[in-house]
Amino acid sequence: MNENIAKEVKKFERGDCAENGVFYQAMEEVIYSIAPLLESDEIYTRYAILERLVVPDRVIKFKVTWLDDNNNIQVNTGYRVQFNNALGPYKGGLRFHPTVTEGILKFLGFEQILKNALTGLPIGGGKGGSDFDPKGKSDFEVMKFCSSFMTELHKYIGPRIDVPAGDIGVGSREIGYLFGEYKKITSSYEGVLTGKPFMFGGSLMRPEATGYGAVYFTETMLEMERKEPLTGKICTVSGAGNVALHAIEKLQQIGAVAVSCTDSKGTIYDSRGVDLELLKDIKLNRRASLEEYVKTHPEAQYIPVAEYPEGAHAVWDIPCYAAFPCATQNELNETDAHNLITNGCVSVTEGANMPSTPEAIVAIQSHGLCFAPAKAANAGGVAVSEFEMSQNASMSRWSFAKVDTKLKETMQQICKRVALTAKDYGVEGNYVDGANIAGFKKVADAMIAEGI
Ligand code: NDP
Repeated sequence: MNENIAKEVKKFERGDCAENGVFYQAMEEVIYSIAPLLESDEIYTRYAILERLVVPDRVIKFKVTWLDDNNNIQVNTGYRVQFNNALGPYKGGLRFHPTVTEGILKFLGFEQILKNALTGLPIGGGKGGSDFDPKGKSDFEVMKFCSSFMTELHKYIGPRIDVPAGDIGVGSREIGYLFGEYKKITSSYEGVLTGKPFMFGGSLMRPEATGYGAVYFTETMLEMERKEPLTGKICTVSGAGNVALHAIEKLQQIGAVAVSCTDSKGTIYDSRGVDLELLKDIKLNRRASLEEYVKTHPEAQYIPVAEYPEGAHAVWDIPCYAAFPCATQNELNETDAHNLITNGCVSVTEGANMPSTPEAIVAIQSHGLCFAPAKAANAGGVAVSEFEMSQNASMSRWSFAKVDTKLKETMQQICKRVALTAKDYGVEGNYVDGANIAGFKKVADAMIAEGI
């Protein structure tokens, strides 16, 4: 790294950034990655793109009060981080989870800018959410929370301004309640949220898009790197939510054997392949713990988090050809990476946002495994969200087949663009650097053209 880049990195190690661990982690990766670009063209430094890109346009923080089923008043904090709209309206999910903080949303929003740029679609980056936990709440409580959240959020969003979607804890139920409240307040039936149920403007395939897209990306990457395809291969998947369920579904459709899933309490290992119908029933219908799985399939293994040695995760110790971390940030650490390598894993695809720690990525890449970073591999969700915006704007409906074809093409294009960019900048095979450079360049060029 040359002296100027070292200075850039140093600059961001202070104050606010240092307090926001995951935000700094995401930023640091990008700054290191784009070093060849900054070295090859001084325009990005002259226009202070980095300094401008790492500060959100605005962070909106608000109080959300709601009544629980016992008529007690509850108070949560809501956020919307509108990070960058150089390429189009702010776009990114809402996360409802007790761990949500401004720092986490800044990390997710920052990643979203470059991810959205990689899709080639006209969307900027943002993220939002609340420390509200939908788990264990009744439908009415979730509805009341969503109504109160939207009472404040509606002031800042719009189909040409900022278009939120779902993320952890926010599925079509929550999006439906949020949309209903927005409509009530504004009397306007418009595509202000994506991930809506199909019956009122949602796109077919939005629920499947992120998981399917991650598998499409992996197929293309393996082909480009001249590795064997996924068909017939053992794959491990973490998570048991939207992304994980649909990654498992697509893997099964192409003839791969997905043998695992996880939730916050434990891991299921079913060597014959996960029973997806049962899994959907447990997680989507009953919203129950994965422990339920072994009641129907006693031959499968349930490994509670508490019973696995600290510092590693059971799911990454299962021998596999390809691994798909699809749960949450930093769920695959250096020890996990070494377990994957020792067990002969060939490819790791990030379905979740930043699930691998920086040390894990170094280990994976230095041992020659293919590594697909989140901002490229999980961009399928936001791509189909943009397709939903297009359908809403033209009051049209696309068929499942049309969305699927466009999603597959988009993921293949992203993969090829990332690989080509890496080659152009002398880091062939490094999909992390390729994604960061390609995404950054697209946003930076727009920022330069739009003036300061
Ligand atoms: P969901 O809320 O649908 O599911 C999250 C899953 O991960 C749940 O099964 C949850 O378990 C599990 N989980 C959460 N925290 C942990 C943890 N600390 N350890 C183990 N498991 C955990 O979320 P999504 O599937 O939508 O999102 C998953 C990831 O994908 C996130 O990083 C999200 O930002 C990213 N993503 C999602 C997109 C989308 O379209 N939904 C688009 C792009 C990225 P439990 O059931 O116990 O809570």
